[in-house]
Amino acid sequence: MISIVIPIYNESIILQQLYDRLVSAAPLWKEDYEIILVDDGSQDNSLEQMRKFAEANPHFRILKLSRNFGHQPAISAGIKYAKGDAVIIMDGDLQDPPEELPRFLAKWKEGYHVVYAVRTKRKEGFFKKLAYKVFYRVLARISDIEIPIDSGDFCIMDRKVVDVLNINMPENIRFVRGLRAFAGFKQIGVEYERAERAGGEVKYTFSKLMKLAIDGIFDFSTFPLRLATYLGLLISIPSFILGIFFIFHRLLNFKVFGYSPSDTPGMATLAVAMFFLGGVVLVILGVMGEYLGRIYIEVKRRPFYLVEEEIVNQSKVSK
Ligand code: UDP
Ligand code: MG
Repeated sequence: MISIVIPIYNESIILQQLYDRLVSAAPLWKEDYEIILVDDGSQDNSLEQMRKFAEANPHFRILKLSRNFGHQPAISAGIKYAKGDAVIIMDGDLQDPPEELPRFLAKWKEGYHVVYAVRTKRKEGFFKKLAYKVFYRVLARISDIEIPIDSGDFCIMDRKVVDVLNINMPENIRFVRGLRAFAGFKQIGVEYERAERAGGEVKYTFSKLMKLAIDGIFDFSTFPLRLATYLGLLISIPSFILGIFFIFHRLLNFKVFGYSPSDTPGMATLAVAMFFLGGVVLVILGVMGEYLGRIYIEVKRRPFYLVEEEIVNQSKVSK
């Protein structure tokens, strides 16, 4: 059996489309399947619609979270509840077309444990595309593991990998595509064209997207910490040389650019140096704070999602 996990947050405009596309794509794969729609605390009537899906179709299971926890926690909740031998993660806005699944499933049947989707074309604005491009490349360079470039959450994971994520990676800050890469096993990327959102507004606000990017970088790399050392060296080595130069300049009192030490007060130089160094120190403090905050979040061991209700069809699932 395969499980398809789809997080849903205020998607009532396109839910019916999603349902229809899933139901009509289902005959394309041979396996028995369950579709887990995770309601991430929607405030519109998404939940009521999903309830109807579950009543009408025994393949659908609904997991209602107690509030909006965010995309990554919602996915994690769905993965935990999935019973399939393989688990598929998809977005609820049909940007990841269900009709593509047979191609992915074929790779899984060949023996790959993770089949992740690589986006060839993105139908998004120029700035968003550029930001994604830069982010994935920076992350790939500085992270301690190999996170594939231009791959999102859309993927198939074998039960083996799902168990690793569920049992061995209990961390609170979830950057699912990173955890997936960390797990290892036999992984392969399959290219696909990412469609446009089927309707409605983007649910990833700018701040949520920034948070995701920061999680990706800080949870999979200690490079920012080392950056402090590099920056420190970069500043202190030239300063040291400059200091020695100043001593000789003072002692020998020769002219540089028309100035001799006896007639330069050097106010501007001092002010610039002070503000610059102050800025650098603040940035580094921020970086340290970022890690400290993460340690704090992790040691609290609070659950990263809470399930309020599970809605399943009363009749037995059969296919
Ligand atoms: N989503 C969610 N919780 C959130 C934000 C988004 O479950 O807090 C879901 C949303 O309903 C959609 C998926 O995550 O199914 C991806 O969101 P969206 O399409 O808005 O973002 P994109 O990845 O396209 O930028
Ligand atoms: Mg989307």
